[in-house]
Amino acid sequence: MEGAQKAASEEVVRDNNGGSNGDGKFLNPTPMLDELEKGPWPSFISGFKELAERTENPMLRGVMDQLEYSYNTKMGYWKGGLVTVDGYGAGVITRYSMIKDKFPEATEFHTMRIQPAPGLHYNTEMLRGLCDTWEKFGSGIITLHGQTGDIMLQGIVQDKVQACFDELNQNGWDLGGAGAGVRTAVSCIGPGRCENACYDNLEAHLQILKHFIGPLHRPEWNYKIKFKFSACPNDCTNAIMRSDLAVIGTWKDSIQIEPEEVKAWIAEKGMDALVNQVLNLCPTHAISLKDGEMVIDSQDCVRCMHCLNAMPKALSPGKERGISLLMGGKNTLKVGVNMGSLIIPFMKMETDEDREEFIELVEEIIDWWDDNGLDHERIGETIERVGLKQFIEGVGLDVDINMVTRPRDNPYFKAKY
Ligand code: SF4
Repeated sequence: MEGAQKAASEEVVRDNNGGSNGDGKFLNPTPMLDELEKGPWPSFISGFKELAERTENPMLRGVMDQLEYSYNTKMGYWKGGLVTVDGYGAGVITRYSMIKDKFPEATEFHTMRIQPAPGLHYNTEMLRGLCDTWEKFGSGIITLHGQTGDIMLQGIVQDKVQACFDELNQNGWDLGGAGAGVRTAVSCIGPGRCENACYDNLEAHLQILKHFIGPLHRPEWNYKIKFKFSACPNDCTNAIMRSDLAVIGTWKDSIQIEPEEVKAWIAEKGMDALVNQVLNLCPTHAISLKDGEMVIDSQDCVRCMHCLNAMPKALSPGKERGISLLMGGKNTLKVGVNMGSLIIPFMKMETDEDREEFIELVEEIIDWWDDNGLDHERIGETIERVGLKQFIEGVGLDVDINMVTRPRDNPYFKAKY
């Protein structure tokens, strides 16, 4: 590795003293990073360069130099630490350079996680204020939005974090989650603009996250736990894959059919299209034609949303709407990728009482996980380790056939209709 580092450091002439590199340009040469600007896709390097040159920000130049060096040596050189603000134990992701002697301008490059508005409904005044504050205290680089769902303000030194947070907080923003606590939640656009919304996921997001704001700012559990709120089974937040608690809108009764709109759809696209693109693609063959009319057997419908997406004017979710709770979704960790398991098939989520009932259930679930989980174990991993039966009994839930993925494969399962 030493040889590679030597070769890389000799490759370009750098000025790490905070001044110009002598050729009249603010940035040092970065031939490896320049490669990332080629090709058809937008490049973060172009954005980085543009901002660095426009603002003549030495921190950005240092970070680019360190990244170029990383690409040459095939090593990462950031290490963590602890940076936070008064009263909080989370929300700032620390980045200290392990080679600050080589690149002193990149000594610190911390990220502040900021919670997004539910459904990402911002107004321009708030966004302009956020940008102004960030340019005042930080590098100016913003990621909207990171994988966590947060607004990622990237590049600030420790000494400026508190003042930056104070100004952001005065303007209505709050830090997001990090560490072993509740993480920043994500919701889709919901009833703000989507006709398929089955509950007010924006209100649920706001109320539920407000309730759990203590463990969001002060991590206290085995590991992280994430909510995502999708307002319909299209699951635009990818809750089923990427959250421990996926709160997904659904309906209990039958899909609503507008016969006139069905006729208009057939008149435009043809009967073959109805058969080939809608009926035949229903995964459970729940749709049929009776005397030329479209009929849906709601007991067979698994809420996959295909027919509603194909015929948005003709079909809409049923009238009895609420949520399903799926638990345990997560990306690769110790036991691989998990999709959420259905824990609550249907629950109302209309009133404050409904939301309080949901919060009580989640508190019960978290208490069980806190007692039974191992250190650094996501809740889905705990359930997998001890068994779904133990979990269901532990939190006092009734077993429901809807929790079984393929109940008809096994005569042991009996449904009560
Ligand atoms: Fe079939 Fe999916 Fe439509 Fe239900 S939502 S009827 S499962 S296509």
